[in-house]
Amino acid sequence: MKWATSKLAGYGTTIFAEMSALAVKTGAINLGQGFPDSDGPPEVLDAAVSAIRSGLNQYPPGLGVPELRKAIADHQKRFYGLQIDPEREVLVTAGATEAIASVLLGMLEVGDEVVVFDPMYDSYQACISLAGARAVPVLLTPGEDGRYHFDAAVLRAAISARTKLILLNTPHNPTGKVFTRVEMELIASLAKQHNLVVITDEVYEHLCFDGNTHIAMATLPGMRERTLTISSGGKTFQTTGWKIGWMSGPHSLVTAAKTAKQFLTYVNGAPFQPAMAVGLALPDSYYQSLAATLQIARDHLAKGLVAAGFTTYLPEATYFVTVDIRSVDSRGDGMAFCRSLPERCGVVAVPSEVFYAEPESGKHLVRFACCKQLAIIDEAVKRLANAFAQ
Ligand code: PMP
Ligand code: GLN
Repeated sequence: MKWATSKLAGYGTTIFAEMSALAVKTGAINLGQGFPDSDGPPEVLDAAVSAIRSGLNQYPPGLGVPELRKAIADHQKRFYGLQIDPEREVLVTAGATEAIASVLLGMLEVGDEVVVFDPMYDSYQACISLAGARAVPVLLTPGEDGRYHFDAAVLRAAISARTKLILLNTPHNPTGKVFTRVEMELIASLAKQHNLVVITDEVYEHLCFDGNTHIAMATLPGMRERTLTISSGGKTFQTTGWKIGWMSGPHSLVTAAKTAKQFLTYVNGAPFQPAMAVGLALPDSYYQSLAATLQIARDHLAKGLVAAGFTTYLPEATYFVTVDIRSVDSRGDGMAFCRSLPERCGVVAVPSEVFYAEPESGKHLVRFACCKQLAIIDEAVKRLANAFAQ
């Protein structure tokens, strides 16, 4: 690929595209890419249809339509008590993915460093690299308690004179970790001590289980002014294909991101933006039942994976359950395992190594998505049990 930029050397095709194509080709059950297999709330769908019918089909304003920006500000107030100015402190983007890209491209200088928790969502490293900067990973490892932890000393040591940002994702893909208050306070205190900005990707904010609570970084003392919060409607309203995301935070940070964003997509999703505003205004009961329903699906999947013989990490949140395959496959090669799984038993999963800065750290781990109908999950785990259970 002599024409491709060296900044993206080694990135190739994303694992989601590869594995979803494999699922289509083999007719396997797709528990790889994280997308729900049922529609979101009818009010939200209807609002998009009527927006299209009422002529909202041309470029929306650069910052996003006013009713969505207001709904985002209201949401931040309702769930986190944050006071956000919808005119100056909110930017609507093409999914959280574009929010992340525009923040990184709009803020980083060549040679800057970004502290990231490893594993991480796959676009982080690629976008840091496109910006000419360097990702400095801090490894998350599962402890005896089944929760993922990081070493505070490693986090401290990851910060250098070149560090500009800490890029945090909580609740976390792919581990399903919800960062605790103690962990968040440590990150916040280091950000303040070293004058860093924290970018938080909170797309799974409403998908917490077992009474775990998502803590928004911007709510910690002294963090409102140095945190840019990213989220999107894809997970919360089961509309991953609409790609409506957003960021909120200090005007100077939003403006830096907007400067890059306007040259990426300029604007996007005119009729979907007012529909997201309708979604964000749904009552608390909607959000509660979303998480409760997903928790049941998580339990079906996790129980089935245990029964099939996998060492299974129960996620505290998100769409994903991670397993260590070494209990059923002594080679412990997650990539090879996932590539052969559809043939072997008609199920698709994603090898977690693609999320690691050091792929070796996640070589034996595989991620299964639980955001599916219970009947689909039950069928998938039955197939896995037939193939692997002793
Ligand atoms: N961040 C994380 C952690 C994700 O898992 C995803 C994928 N759904 C995104 C960002 C991208 O979100 P969106 O589809 O809104 O671009
Ligand atoms: N966020 C989803 C996942 O982690 C899918 C994202 C994508 O397809 N790029 O599976």
